[in-house]
Amino acid sequence: RTVYLNGEFVPLDQARVPVMDRGFLFADGIYEVSAVLDGKLVDNAAHLARLDRSLGEIGIANPHDAAAWERLQADLVARNGLVEGLVYMQVTRGVMERDFGFPPAGTPTTVVMFTQAKKIVANPLAESGARVITVEDLRWKRRDIKSVALLAQVLAKQQAVEAGVAEAWMVEDGAVTEGSSSTAFIVTRDRTLITRPLSTALLPGITRASVLRLAGEADLRVEERLFTVAEALEAQEAFYTSASSFVMPVVEIDGTRLGDGVPGPLSRRLRALYLEVARGA
Ligand code: PMP
Repeated sequence: RTVYLNGEFVPLDQARVPVMDRGFLFADGIYEVSAVLDGKLVDNAAHLARLDRSLGEIGIANPHDAAAWERLQADLVARNGLVEGLVYMQVTRGVMERDFGFPPAGTPTTVVMFTQAKKIVANPLAESGARVITVEDLRWKRRDIKSVALLAQVLAKQQAVEAGVAEAWMVEDGAVTEGSSSTAFIVTRDRTLITRPLSTALLPGITRASVLRLAGEADLRVEERLFTVAEALEAQEAFYTSASSFVMPVVEIDGTRLGDGVPGPLSRRLRALYLEVARGA
């Protein structure tokens, strides 16, 4: 595999970041992930806009404009012959002797990009439907920033792994905040699609935005509000969205089966609609 590191394309096993990198010492950095389908980037302008915003929110200068990022991404995708999968971008505040305050102005950021091959469309989990568990949300107050500080999500996902399920839905004051790496949705019996509104308390999911735009085509009303675990257990359907899973139907929450225990028709419809968008991009 070829990765990108600070201006160069290098073999993965030769790419090295210094011990004093602030990404390593403090998780002082931002990342972003775009899907690749048929060799083309999906929803990429929105991902690059979120990358720019995240960097701005923590005072890291974006090393590239969107056009330059996209050229680098396309180059990396081509070098790796990636047809379907993910492109990760990561920018840290660079290298400096360990000290909490920012490095002096002009300190170069560390920029890394790598690809991961992944079957997103022909994912067997999308056919069977995903099982999820709920876990406590242990995160900080600026979840709108796509920070590489992901310890709470690591611990949440590991609970899911140990429970033998696909995803952990994080819960705060009885309400579902987000999946550990996805946006959570439910569909009620009267064809209302519910997901929480954007704020600093959640990541503004790019797939979320696309799915909300497509809801009308699936004849769904949209209600942006928090929903509780109890509501989710009573829901007609549920699913989660992300660049790495698109629209993933949920068939079980905390061991309770939803509906018939198979992916519901509205989740499947939204997945199909999103696939059309992704392919057409
Ligand atoms: N919420 C969280 C906490 C995430 O980590 C992700 C995936 N990066 C998402 C939502 C989904 O965002 P997107 O659709 O932009 O991949």
